[in-house]
Amino acid sequence: MRYLTLAESFNELEKTSSYLKKNEIIAELLRRTPPEMMEEVVSLLLGSVYPAYVSQETGIGLQQLKKAVAMASGYSLSEVEKLMEKVGDLGEVASQLLSKKKQVTLFTRTLDVEKVFNNLRKLPDITGAGSVDRRIATVAELLSNASPLEAKFITRTVLGDLRIGVAEGRLRDAIAEAFNVPADLVEQAYMLTTDYGRVARAASEGGRKGLEELDLMVGHPVNPMLAQRAESVEEVLQRMGGKAAFEIKLDGIRIQVHKDGERVKLFTRRMEDYTGMFPDLLDPLREAVKPERAILDGELVAIDKRSGKPMPFQEVLKRRRKYDIEEVARQIPVEIHFFDVLLSGNRTMIWEPYTRRREELERIVEPGERIKVVKQKVLSDLEEIRKFRSEAVAMGHEGLLAKELGSVYRAGKREFTWLKLKPTIETLDLAVVGAYAGRGKRAGTFGSYLLATRDPTSGKLYTVTKVGSGYTDEQLEDLTNFFKPLVMDRKPDELVAEVEPDHWLRPEYVFEIIYEEIQKSPPEKHTSGYGLRFPRFVRLREDMRVEDIDTIEDIERLYSKQQKAKSVRGPRRA
Ligand code: AMP
Repeated sequence: MRYLTLAESFNELEKTSSYLKKNEIIAELLRRTPPEMMEEVVSLLLGSVYPAYVSQETGIGLQQLKKAVAMASGYSLSEVEKLMEKVGDLGEVASQLLSKKKQVTLFTRTLDVEKVFNNLRKLPDITGAGSVDRRIATVAELLSNASPLEAKFITRTVLGDLRIGVAEGRLRDAIAEAFNVPADLVEQAYMLTTDYGRVARAASEGGRKGLEELDLMVGHPVNPMLAQRAESVEEVLQRMGGKAAFEIKLDGIRIQVHKDGERVKLFTRRMEDYTGMFPDLLDPLREAVKPERAILDGELVAIDKRSGKPMPFQEVLKRRRKYDIEEVARQIPVEIHFFDVLLSGNRTMIWEPYTRRREELERIVEPGERIKVVKQKVLSDLEEIRKFRSEAVAMGHEGLLAKELGSVYRAGKREFTWLKLKPTIETLDLAVVGAYAGRGKRAGTFGSYLLATRDPTSGKLYTVTKVGSGYTDEQLEDLTNFFKPLVMDRKPDELVAEVEPDHWLRPEYVFEIIYEEIQKSPPEKHTSGYGLRFPRFVRLREDMRVEDIDTIEDIERLYSKQQKAKSVRGPRRA
């Protein structure tokens, strides 16, 4: 296939801004493309010689490209630069200069697509001594065999700026039109392969059936499935038929792991290749993922070694970019928590129901220190779901993701079969005023604490809740040692309380608490008049003084906000 055919289509595309016209031009070009050239043509149409997920530069800069244009046209570098200043586009410069070419080459060949594609593709592989000159010569060779129109687009392709207004998204409709296949089938095939070249080829060779037969390939990122948002636990259960799987929603970055024997690759949600950024995960992955070949979906999280809680991921990326990766990897270890499997061995899993995929995931991943499977529970009880959500939040995670038990993995789609369930609630900072002796396994330490809010006018403290969960064993021990020196033999003067803990504590420290809901409480129980459902310890706020904790008014405000939200959502179905 002649490159000129492509260049002519590019030229027409550049001239029109009409969506329909562009579609027609692309469809016509695809129809004229022999199937075996389809991948090259689509790639060039998108302005690159690599699929979108391969981040590879041509290895030739503007200055070098100017030299190549000078060489091919027989003009001097300064003449090239002068014209460049005037027209501002090196493609146009190449085209104009070649049309008045000074140097006549003896054997001008017609350029075919393959030749252009291969020459451009090999540019980054030209390395070592004299590589810059050899790269320039490779481009110059193409240009000197090119017609002015061809030269314009070759030059722009090398620069990575084709300027014909064809983005990936538009290829869906053009392919559908060219080969008379449904656009959503084209899109689905793209979601699985992330490669319009392969999709166009399959459509051209096999039509509808060809598209249906396209499958995942290890090493080619798949468009990840996304979640819709749910306003309440009730909504989730309603949409999912009363029962669903609930997974912890981790706050890190989405990561897709591809394993093929010893080769492991990591792709982000935007399908960028992050393998190089996380070399410390490759061996753990080789060990943990049992099948020879697999594609797994998960979340990459960074854990702060001191608190054991997740760290903001942007910080991790920033450090990895800036400092020595190995050093940062030691300081802030990262983990992958898997939640789905798209391919296991030779079995494509995406069409199987969620429950089967989860089973397979648990079967093929051997969790270890760095590689885990996301914690999950299948629940139908409102209370239990709320409790699980509070647990997740107290652990420092974002909330829960609900997944419909029978749902397939819809690559690239944001579906109601995955629902994000974030807490609507803000945490509370409350004063620690009492402690209860632990029982059973917790004997010898304080097992729970009594917390209070403050009235800033009087300075008095009023009890709100007792908190007995959210602590690790280690935290309970540390907190016991921390609070023992604060034990008092009588109730603190500023505290108004009806309940009586095993030990009163001097009110000097603050806990951050997460909870499911604020409730009214009879004053004979909690003197603030409010209580919390499912309160869980988040952390000791050593940075905060009791004078600065959440006040009774704060709690009142949160309570009425919550009631308002509830009346918008309708009453609880309980
Ligand atoms: P959002 O970015 O708020 O739309 O939430 C969706 C994102 O949550 C996904 O792209 C994942 O990166 C992340 N996530 C965390 N935990 C899970 C999980 N268990 N299942 C699916 N996605 C998760």
